[in-house]
Amino acid sequence: MSDCIFCKIVSKEIPSNAVYEDDMILAFHDLNPQAPTHVLVIPKVHFESFNDMTEEHAEVMGHMTLKIKEIANKLGIAESGYRVVCNCGDDGGQEVKHLHYHLLGGRKLQWPPG
Ligand code: 5GP
Ligand code: ZN
Repeated sequence: MSDCIFCKIVSKEIPSNAVYEDDMILAFHDLNPQAPTHVLVIPKVHFESFNDMTEEHAEVMGHMTLKIKEIANKLGIAESGYRVVCNCGDDGGQEVKHLHYHLLGGRKLQWPPG
């Protein structure tokens, strides 16, 4: 999608600090980290949110979810623990309308979220 910031990160039009990439997904450090480790994991294909997910996204969602432990391990937070968050829509606090997982760790995270 031409005006999507994360699509521009995928196409390298906008630089990012990548930690993992393959043909289906990209993981990169969040610009405004909310924890010592805060990485965004995104599908390369553009769709807005869980509400827009269809059967054709099953493979990339499965792949992206299975890769989390590997990325967490690479970041050194697999043992200490982490949180995977996916904000959806206004009440969910979603700002960027390209589906993404937040992978947060490196400190004790509070629950429930605000
Ligand atoms: P959301 O609120 O949509 O769940 O999360 C969007 C996230 O994207 C925020 O944590 C924000 O800091 C991050 N973000 C927005 N623009 C950029 C960018 O250009 N580069 C990177 N690395 N992160 C971004
Ligand atoms: Zn996009």
